[in-house]
Amino acid sequence: MTLLLDGITLTYPDGEGRLTALDSVALDVPPGSLTAVVGPSGSGKSSLLAVAATLVTPDAGRVVVAGTDATVLSRADRAVLRREHIGIVFQQPHLLPALTAVEQLLVMAHLSGRKPRRAADRARELLAAVGLAGQAHRRSHQLSGGQRQRVNIARALMNDPSVLLVDEPTSALDHERGAAVLDLLATLTRERSTATVLVTHDPSHPARADQVVTMADGRLRRRPAAS
Ligand code: ADP
Ligand code: MG
Repeated sequence: MTLLLDGITLTYPDGEGRLTALDSVALDVPPGSLTAVVGPSGSGKSSLLAVAATLVTPDAGRVVVAGTDATVLSRADRAVLRREHIGIVFQQPHLLPALTAVEQLLVMAHLSGRKPRRAADRARELLAAVGLAGQAHRRSHQLSGGQRQRVNIARALMNDPSVLLVDEPTSALDHERGAAVLDLLATLTRERSTATVLVTHDPSHPARADQVVTMADGRLRRRPAAS
């Protein structure tokens, strides 16, 4: 259990009252496995990911990342846990326009104080792993949408995370490119033994998931993985 969510309740202020975005959610994601979270817009998928990423602290429940309960840590210790163990891929790649693909990855390494030589080797290795060996020196505008999302994924892997959290990575891609990105995520999950959570509103996506869960009104239901 590289990632364990247990009894997670999260509310947001809503006028006079509170809106319950997550209601007693439990989820266990072992290393090297892919969990797909499906469900309609507004059902709580992004909230679940934000809690798993330790970016949002729930009202109740435990978020255990690589054996440590993040909810009892100080803000600073939580940031360290996140940097060392969690890779996050948001919906939009948010690449820096002035930088080449390899430099997008090196920014991450710089933030975590990695040695430049080793960081450069790792960045090149990861770009090759996501199928961009020949594109390392292209800037953001010279890459297609699918290639930008691959850079985004490679960047999230730079610090060798044990947990990989991905929010709707294919929403800006056509079906074929979207399917290729999902395939890539499944492959990386196995090769790098990450506990991966993939959020999507498209129920046809998670063909290669080990576990598929459905969110509805902040509650989570398990259903058998598609084969
Ligand atoms: P999904 O990702 O499945 O679309 P979200 O987790 O974004 O769902 O949202 C779940 C519910 O929480 C929705 O009703 C949404 O309006 C509400 N919500 C999400 N983020 C906030 C926020 N920062 N403040 C208040 N309400 C929020
Ligand atoms: Mg969302």
